[in-house]
Amino acid sequence: MGTPLESREAQAEEVLDRLYEEYPDTTISLSYSNRLELLIAVMLSAQCTDERVNKVTAELFEKYDDAADYAAADQEELADDISSITYYNNKAKYIRSACADIIEKHDGEVPDTMSALTDLAGVGRKTANVVLQHGHDIVEGIVVDTHVQRLSRRLGLTEEEYPERIEEDLMPVVPERDWQQFTHLFISHGRAVCDARNPDCDACVLEDLCPSSKRDHDVDLASGEAW
Ligand code: SF4
Repeated sequence: MGTPLESREAQAEEVLDRLYEEYPDTTISLSYSNRLELLIAVMLSAQCTDERVNKVTAELFEKYDDAADYAAADQEELADDISSITYYNNKAKYIRSACADIIEKHDGEVPDTMSALTDLAGVGRKTANVVLQHGHDIVEGIVVDTHVQRLSRRLGLTEEEYPERIEEDLMPVVPERDWQQFTHLFISHGRAVCDARNPDCDACVLEDLCPSSKRDHDVDLASGEAW
């Protein structure tokens, strides 16, 4: 019987406890060896799988060393280097422009504030949050990607629809010490069990807490539509 706990705070804590048990070592799955590589990997990962991004960056990071290399890159050549990634033309433009700004305004270093990061071309709050958390050890918010969006709604932790509203809604409910791992735990569970089209509710450790469980609920709260 999928019944959520009485408060969203209690629901969040219980969900986290169980997911920490399931995925004790989960962390970011993008490959990078410095802050600039992290920023570029996250920019490339919008609407694209981390697996594909890692394949492309294995060669890209060999070819381009620093922000000056990307800023000076020819648009067509850089687009070609990342052409197996979604929206590669736009992403090449954003990377060149962001790196030009990093040189001009930040002495070639990836900035460490939300406002400076989101001023860079192609960098939204989600990308900035990932760079702050994993590049600078600064946790200012919760990264809401497609898995966090879907699972938070399915589990009754939010009724908001859009990532920035979901983040605002979750921050008072999820303990601050868990903000970073919350994202990785939800991504791991979304990939392993609670996928978008066909979640495996019978195998899910959250089934008895979940108001979307297919066992006894007719509606997927992520979409608001019938299973
Ligand atoms: S797999 Fe099913 S029971 Fe588990 S969180 Fe997803 S919808 Fe809920």
